[in-house]
Amino acid sequence: MTARLTVLSGPSGVGKSTVVQGLRAARPDVWLSVSATTRRPRPGETHGVNYFFVDHAEFARMVEHGELLEYAEFAGNFYGTPRRPVIERLEAGVAVLLEIELQGARQVRASMPEALLVFLAPPSWDELVRRLVGRGTEPAEVIARRLETAKVELAAESEFDATVVNASVEGAVASLLDLMGLHAPGDPAA
Ligand code: 5GP
Repeated sequence: MTARLTVLSGPSGVGKSTVVQGLRAARPDVWLSVSATTRRPRPGETHGVNYFFVDHAEFARMVEHGELLEYAEFAGNFYGTPRRPVIERLEAGVAVLLEIELQGARQVRASMPEALLVFLAPPSWDELVRRLVGRGTEPAEVIARRLETAKVELAAESEFDATVVNASVEGAVASLLDLMGLHAPGDPAA
């Protein structure tokens, strides 16, 4: 049985990671792909858990060998989804979730048209700015670059199968589970 691939995308700072954490707490059986990236680890991030932190040479090797389902350059770093683990899980009937930026979502759309593409939108632009600045993990010029990218990314909403507005994490998780055809434990419909 082949399960469904869901792609969650949306502007940087919209809260994709928090929603994904909430979803996995509710449904640990959903497998979250671990991306490769050339970005340096942030404090608290672990190799093999949050990302596979690789250098440019290794990333280029993965691209050259066709090992990535999709990849993109984002804010000066490369990010990509290792293909094999995703395909293996899908073939084993496991629901797979990718949390990636827009260019990557477009590539998945092209190569796997059956994937469900979900756009996570902020309640408002002001709220997005507040969240990106408030994260406090990046220098000002990085935040400025991410805001520029976010403007472009917001305009892409119409390319997605569905939009989830991240007004509250619980609400966003519930909507995403619903779109994926899954239910949270305790849900009468589960
Ligand atoms: P961050 O540096 O904040 O962890 O991630 C920056 C952006 O890269 C986020 O929008 C995140 O969703 C995206 N991203 C993470 N992994 C991948 C990936 O494998 N492919 C693509 N295209 N984007 C990714």
